Amino acid sequence: MAGWRHIFLVTDIEGVAGVESWGQTQSGPRYEAAKALATDEVNSVVRALLGPPDNSDPSPLRISVWDGHGCGGLLPDLLDRRVTFYRHDDARNFTGLLRESLRGAAPVNALGFVGQHAMEGSGGVLSHTYSSRRIRSYKLSGRPIGEFDLRALFAWALAEIPSIFFSGDDVACREAQSLVPGIIRVQVKESLGVTSARHLEPAHACAQLAAGAKQILERNPADPLLRPSFIPESPFELRKHFKLKFGFVPRPPQVRRSDNLAAVLEEE
Ligand SMILES: [Zn+2]
Repeated sequence: MAGWRHIFLVTDIEGVAGVESWGQTQSGPRYEAAKALATDEVNSVVRALLGPPDNSDPSPLRISVWDGHGCGGLLPDLLDRRVTFYRHDDARNFTGLLRESLRGAAPVNALGFVGQHAMEGSGGVLSHTYSSRRIRSYKLSGRPIGEFDLRALFAWALAEIPSIFFSGDDVACREAQSLVPGIIRVQVKESLGVTSARHLEPAHACAQLAAGAKQILERNPADPLLRPSFIPESPFELRKHFKLKFGFVPRPPQVRRSDNLAAVLEEE
């Protein structure tokens, strides 16, 4: 198993095959259908790593799944029962859950991202950074970064936890590779604009995700290509720019500075 003990999967809905409109990401029948697609994608990854659900030879690998979509992006009742599932509104949040795992018996030693979207302004399908209405950009010591970067860099800063797996559209996959050159990428759709895409058919996307996830088991956690290509010099600065709305007073950027990268990135 090449030294992977506990893989923490961050999931989202905007990067899933078949999802390309904001209406699929919150309330209504199309949202319920999108959550089913997202759950199938996550289960494909989990089963590639742990074997079929009735596997008589249980894997020692642990998998946690944190639903990273604000109003919920998965159908927990249909998720593979062998994973530890955390809802998006878990009070510990992504950063708290990772910190907590490091104090436990089976600390997380890899991150994976399923259904992740690209950053605001990138042209990726349903691209945004945390809030599509409020946030124009995040910059870490001058470099624009998205949700993937913030989380991958946080995990690295915390305990050199590498990000090993990523799925989403072509734009998001390029973003992931730009920060982590050796990350395993599975492209499930091609962006034709913020609300338009050419998708893999869902069963095909799931087969590709399973094939990509199997590659995790052959990778070495110490592979230097899993080290982020961008880690700025201390002191670190995270600058959050807000969108301007007609009739509102412009809001100045919010800036965090520290010598501790994990503390700076402890966000959202
Ligand atoms: Zn989302």
